[in-house]
Amino acid sequence: MTDQYAVIGNPIGHTKSPLIHGLFAEETQQDMVYTAIEGLLEPDEAFADTVRAFVAAGGKGMNVTAPFKLKAFAIADERSERAELAGAVNAMKFEDGRIVAENFDGIGLVRDIEVNLGLPMAGKRVLILGAGGAARGALLPFLSARPAEMVIANRDVTKGRALAAKVGARGPLLACGYGDLEAMGRFDLVVNATSASLTGELPPVPPRVFSPEGTAYELAYGKRLTPFLRLARNAGVRTVADGVGMLVEQAAEAFDWWRGVRPQTRAVIDRLTVALD
Ligand code: NDP
Repeated sequence: MTDQYAVIGNPIGHTKSPLIHGLFAEETQQDMVYTAIEGLLEPDEAFADTVRAFVAAGGKGMNVTAPFKLKAFAIADERSERAELAGAVNAMKFEDGRIVAENFDGIGLVRDIEVNLGLPMAGKRVLILGAGGAARGALLPFLSARPAEMVIANRDVTKGRALAAKVGARGPLLACGYGDLEAMGRFDLVVNATSASLTGELPPVPPRVFSPEGTAYELAYGKRLTPFLRLARNAGVRTVADGVGMLVEQAAEAFDWWRGVRPQTRAVIDRLTVALD
């Protein structure tokens, strides 16, 4: 029987995952289908019921998107360290009646920056804005890339501090509020991991954090020049990028995890890229 995979979210109409995994399957000649499932928001157990029904029907794996990443975390039998730290799951594998959970968002982001954009993070000053699921997922992969210093700024400073306390032993990580950034000098890489761009807002980041030779990376994608990327451009930043490469790279990680074969990503990224200007 053809192996079944799916992405689950609500709403799900916008998802690019079936297209991405369909292209990966074609390229690597895998016998699989990948569909999109709109999960029910209520009752509370609806998510778990939908996942179990998918497994019972022969499902092998699932991607998870908003708002179910925490529910996927809760129903998992086994979680990777990355998923544990993120407190969120974006990929599941169903094995011998068990749900094994992963979070590939952060590793996809690091791959896009280091491999696709050609910007190694080792020895660099890195600033992450936001302390939600995406920022949490990025922390361990970022620290593994050995930056000289990493700062996490969030409106709710307690969230950033809790993260720094949790993973501070893994590398040079500091948490602060936006007001503290004025005195912190320039960063080589500034990553907007807030959800501000989804509503056309700008996190209160001072322009002086940007370095003209540096990079500004927006996790949201397909939104052209967001207020954050515009601010970076106006500050003279040479390299600005959105999260389409991260989206495709996290999908490639999941595909490899499920199928044991790594797909090419360049052509898929090019196909999904919306020009910033
Ligand atoms: P969460 O809801 O978990 O976290 C949102 C974060 O944004 C919080 O830290 C919140 O701060 C902050 N925030 C929200 N609005 C503002 C604002 N106006 N100013 C400053 N900070 C703000 O979201 P996620 O972490 O799941 O997603 C974050 C972004 O990453 C989204 O744009 C999402 O689309 C994108 N994303 C992209 C992916 C890709 O593959 N390219 C994958 C996953 C996510 P506070 O805690 O103070 O409320």
